[in-house]
Amino acid sequence: MNKGSCLCGKVRFSVAKFEPLLGHCHCKMCRKFHGAAFSTFGEVRLENLAWDSGKSELKHYKADNGSIRSFCKHCGSSILFESTFNRDNKTIEIALAAFDELEPVEPDAHIYLDSKVPWLEVNDSLKKNQGYRES
Ligand SMILES: [Zn+2]
Ligand SMILES: [Zn+2]
Repeated sequence: MNKGSCLCGKVRFSVAKFEPLLGHCHCKMCRKFHGAAFSTFGEVRLENLAWDSGKSELKHYKADNGSIRSFCKHCGSSILFESTFNRDNKTIEIALAAFDELEPVEPDAHIYLDSKVPWLEVNDSLKKNQGYRES
């Protein structure tokens, strides 16, 4: 089982299973949302996500492109990302760094490197995409 929480601990959730694709996203929106160089979200089918507490403590930001990002209204922790694609497929993406217990996961790629901050060097062996995954 994978268990996560926000910084203040009011929001707690469990994930039974992640979907396979796991990328580090360097897009500007992820950078701003996390206040970090890039984000790593794990995709989860909605039926594999359970709320242990605090789902109602989340606030939601809807961007112009229809994506929704959710964060704890008390401590500001970035927790969820939902694109229109996720909505159609009944999945959601959860910030991996918010997990306290996590079964081994293997990120497979970097995406949106065209927006990467200049002060971060990416020199691992993962697949590097300038935009979204080049199929
Ligand atoms: Zn919190
Ligand atoms: Zn992104």
